[in-house]
Amino acid sequence: MITLDLETFLLLCISVGLAVIMGLWYFYDRREKHLYEAERSQGVFHCVKCGKLYTNKKLKGTDNCPACGFLNSRLKF
Ligand SMILES: [Zn+2]
Repeated sequence: MITLDLETFLLLCISVGLAVIMGLWYFYDRREKHLYEAERSQGVFHCVKCGKLYTNKKLKGTDNCPACGFLNSRLKF
């Protein structure tokens, strides 16, 4: 059995605490970035045939209009 003195034990507690905080921080940071990326990568399309504005989450450059089915290219800002 390994015997821990108080100093080692405290150091271990602090290390574990820091690791948990860093882990959570990393997790939330990743999640935030992911949500932001999803929002940002959303394509905005404007139908030249019927004038409808629509979005999709696909990363391709063209998409069919949900109203009339006309193939439109993505708007670039
Ligand atoms: Zn349309």
